[in-house]
Amino acid sequence: MKLPVTRIQRFSTHDGAGVRTVVFLKGCPLRCAWCHNPETQRMGREMMYAAGKCIGCRACEAACPRGAHLFSNGAHVYDRSACALCMACADACPTQALTPAAQEMEAEEMISIALRDRAFYGREGGITLSGGEPTAQGEAAVKLLAMAKAAGMTTAMETCGHFAPALVAPLAGTVDEFLWDVKDTDPARHKRYVGVDNAQILRNLRALDQYEVRIVLRCILVRGVNLNTAHARAVRELFASLRHGVRVDLLPYHPFGSQKGEQLGREGGGRTDWIPTREEVEDFRREAGL
Ligand code: SF4
Ligand code: SF4
Repeated sequence: MKLPVTRIQRFSTHDGAGVRTVVFLKGCPLRCAWCHNPETQRMGREMMYAAGKCIGCRACEAACPRGAHLFSNGAHVYDRSACALCMACADACPTQALTPAAQEMEAEEMISIALRDRAFYGREGGITLSGGEPTAQGEAAVKLLAMAKAAGMTTAMETCGHFAPALVAPLAGTVDEFLWDVKDTDPARHKRYVGVDNAQILRNLRALDQYEVRIVLRCILVRGVNLNTAHARAVRELFASLRHGVRVDLLPYHPFGSQKGEQLGREGGGRTDWIPTREEVEDFRREAGL
């Protein structure tokens, strides 16, 4: 069983309880305007080009069957419209200026990488699936988590919550802790900035809360979008209504994803006016009763 992996991060202490190995999977049904992992959004193949790493050796030009790498006066232009994503140029590039956004990886290989750090996990640590949205891989994500549990690891999942209701029960049986994104509590703003409203997400959250799972709400704070009193109070009410809520984490927006967006050839991102001040975050924390 192969899955598209953009990155595996070992020794994480921010993605669930204890020390964890985080597997980032490609594919997400949402399109958050502030996404900090844009390379994980689309399901298909994508090429990342980091111009700062290019030394102008022209190995990519020689490798490409489509003439997608052009050199003029020493400048390298990568013509994405001509590219067939065969990845021959990425294989030839000596500096990794060209890299596939994800690699297909067997589930057993991911488990084996995670098990390398078993000595550091203790009772709490283990594997976390992130993305993207892990449930975009459907039953395959559930199987991967079941394999991790069978290997003796605890399991966590970072999720946007937008998945088919049929996945609720299988996930409840394989995930110990959910790190549940709360993008916004206002349905219209949710749709405007994320691409869908939050009705299905809230239904899934309520359904999962019926099981013996731990739920951490993770709230992105975007100045000028959801950093306001009404949202803070709604987060407080949402958390108070959960039977299995553990805590609420506040995640102030940062523009780190913009560089990766540029490497994918996408416009936009990197809104510095969206970054909240420390005082604004603390005001929100107070209003949310945290
Ligand atoms: S991925 Fe293939 S088609 Fe695209 S630029 Fe590289 S070598 Fe050319
Ligand atoms: S192979 Fe890599 S380093 Fe060489 S010119 Fe192409 S992108 Fe630049």
